[in-house]
Amino acid sequence: MIRIASWTGALVLTICAASILPARADFRSCLASLRSDALGKGISAATFDTATSGLEPDMDILKFEENQPEFKIPIWHYLAGLVDDERVADGKAKMRQWSQALATAEERFGVDRYAIAAVWGVESNFGEATGKRPLVQSLATLACFGQRAAYFRGEFFATLKIIERGDVPADRLVGSWAGAFGQTQFMPSTFLRMAVDLDGDGKRDVVDSVPDALGSTANYLHKSGWTAGVPWGFEVKLPADYGGPSGRTNKHPMSFWAQRGIRRIDGGGLGEGSAGLLLPAGAKGPAFLVTRNFDAIYAYNAAESYALAISTLSDRLRGGPGIATPWPTNDRGLSRAERKEVQTLLAQRGYDVGGAPDGNVGTKTREAILEYQGRVGLDRTGLAGGIVFDALRAGR
Ligand code: CA
Repeated sequence: MIRIASWTGALVLTICAASILPARADFRSCLASLRSDALGKGISAATFDTATSGLEPDMDILKFEENQPEFKIPIWHYLAGLVDDERVADGKAKMRQWSQALATAEERFGVDRYAIAAVWGVESNFGEATGKRPLVQSLATLACFGQRAAYFRGEFFATLKIIERGDVPADRLVGSWAGAFGQTQFMPSTFLRMAVDLDGDGKRDVVDSVPDALGSTANYLHKSGWTAGVPWGFEVKLPADYGGPSGRTNKHPMSFWAQRGIRRIDGGGLGEGSAGLLLPAGAKGPAFLVTRNFDAIYAYNAAESYALAISTLSDRLRGGPGIATPWPTNDRGLSRAERKEVQTLLAQRGYDVGGAPDGNVGTKTREAILEYQGRVGLDRTGLAGGIVFDALRAGR
């Protein structure tokens, strides 16, 4: 039996040699149990043995699982980093480069190419950031020592099935600590259900074939209920002091919303179909009528903020203006370039931002911001937002 609590405890105290040896022994016996289950699931002994030969656990990743959930940031900060001018420009260039694959995916699965590209852009920055951790090692570690061992056992077996089928070479199966991999960050079990061979070479390679990755994303959205020709939704303007129903899943016909005085943000009519009224920051912030296609995006990653990022990025890739209504805040969200500038200016003042400024705000940068905010007399939020940006730029 694996003693999760004691081993994770040993980790936090950073590990003397004596504590590693029993972990290694436990890992060996865990692998033996995984092996017999794998063989029972039709995975060959050769595949299992090759994939796990000399395998050691990566105990570092257990701390990622412990550290969930992440630091909670307001939605406008979240969106500002994911839907910034740089990602829109990169996305337009990538869409030109891969226009044929996007056209094929759109035609075959009936899914809007701008939505497909937006998922690609948010999941991996158009293939730039797909993760570097070997899936077999991460998932074996989580299957043996993780808090959700049963779930990760399933993903570990799914990884071996991918190797056995030969869709993706074993050494290309690298990804996030939790096992999401490839251009659109599928989990291995999602891959088995959803991946497609769009480029027609006989393999479903969502790592090194952009067409396969785009087609697989389109298939996922299609299977999640995407309806061709229907928008994800659109921004709307509420009547003053709106106090009526809201909520993504609280769907009503457009006529219902029109009767309550809701109009498109540009003043136009709402059209046909049904939608829910999404108020991500309350009735004083931006408001959206969202359709079943928004729910299809939500199925990709169950967070309304995520679905809104994909949706608004897809609009901007299409040439739209983005969200018009200001967020109810005096601390605006920052683009990645602005976040990088915050880190640079903090580093110039002697703060540790966790390495070279890169625009990724992690624990070190947040701690530096908290300390800086305290020193210059700002509210200590830890947020890389407009207030800190402006103060740093003003030389404070
Ligand atoms: Ca292929």
